[in-house]
Amino acid sequence: MTALLEHNADLSSLNTLGLPARAACLARPQTLDALEQVLAERDPNAPVHVIGEGSNLVIQGDLPGLTIALGIDGMAKVKQDEQSVWVAAGAGVHWDDLVAWTVEQGWQGLENLSLIPGTVGAAPYQNIGAYGVELAQVLEQVTVMDIATGTVSHFPAEQCEFAYRDSRFKGRDKGRYIITGIELRLNRQARCNISYGPLAQHFADKPAQAVTAAAVREQVIAIRQSKLPDPAVLANAGSFFKNPVVSAEKADALKAAFPQLVAYPQESGTKLAAGWLIEAAGWKGKRLGPVAMHSEQALVLVNHGGAIPEDVMALAAAVKRDVWQRFGVELEQEPVVLP
Ligand SMILES: Cc1cc2nc3c(=O)[nH]c(=O)nc-3n(C[C@H](O)[C@H](O)[C@H](O)COP(=O)(O)OP(=O)(O)OC[C@H]3O[C@@H](n4cnc5c(N)ncnc54)[C@H](O)[C@@H]3O)c2cc1C
Repeated sequence: MTALLEHNADLSSLNTLGLPARAACLARPQTLDALEQVLAERDPNAPVHVIGEGSNLVIQGDLPGLTIALGIDGMAKVKQDEQSVWVAAGAGVHWDDLVAWTVEQGWQGLENLSLIPGTVGAAPYQNIGAYGVELAQVLEQVTVMDIATGTVSHFPAEQCEFAYRDSRFKGRDKGRYIITGIELRLNRQARCNISYGPLAQHFADKPAQAVTAAAVREQVIAIRQSKLPDPAVLANAGSFFKNPVVSAEKADALKAAFPQLVAYPQESGTKLAAGWLIEAAGWKGKRLGPVAMHSEQALVLVNHGGAIPEDVMALAAAVKRDVWQRFGVELEQEPVVLP
């Protein structure tokens, strides 16, 4: 058991923002049994933190108690019928390895979510999404272990309370479960979603047969690589704010005052492009000490090196304040703050 634990572990390479932090005790269980054992033998009064690849985290200080980075591996086809194929994956799998493998098999459903950093286990936590698709659309069930009891349960997607960058695991059950695996239902025939502007434009003059999962994946990767800074080169945690949803009346009033405003009507309310608001508030490419809002993608907060959590929080607060003062819109931070 002790062999599995690392004391006073350095977390600076386990969060893509590159913030300095240590975990009092870090465990990397590779199996369900090992996870159960780590939980059973921990100090029940000390906190438990779960991390994946740290690509959606702001670690604002050292983590007390037990920190778990799951290494449960494995991707497999579970079953299939004429239309669908069911696929299971362990929480420790690198998300894009799962996407690449399913696309290679000719299965459709994950291609729009190509190249999102992080692990499979973290994907349901905030219901990852990109280019018009969310995980919830293909998720069949989530397997979890209850931290307090070690009990394993399966939640069908309908019980996961998925919403825009949200789920029960991030909401009312925060801190209760460790996600150990997922099962997806994918299509055996291409029914790709290319509604997102740049994808629609790319495929506009191509025949329908050219719209394959592989072709969409290739295009999504090209778009992401042209727009988003690679955390391995410039430390960041992806979109730092969610796209705010406001009432249709508020969006109309803003559109009248700012005709360039980028807004997408939703079933209820209107989603505004947070990146546009931040850029219009003057923060694109602007630096505050070692941190900045990225010069190509204003929604991404980057660490040019040597930042501490206070630098990140100061910039985030300044951006929020200016967007509020200029547009009367409140930005909500996307990355999770630990501890
Ligand atoms: C360059 C870049 C681009 C990005 N683009 C996108 C994008 O397009 N769409 C998008 O949705 N996200 C995006 N993200 C955010 C990030 O990739 C996702 O949120 C990803 O799912 C985080 O995975 P992770 O393993 O790094 O989780 P971490 O950052 O380590 O953890 C995130 C949260 O999930 C919890 N968690 C992690 N694993 C588990 C588990 N097994 N059980 C329970 N809870 C767990 C953690 O406690 C934490 O609260 C981007 C990030 C970067 C750096």
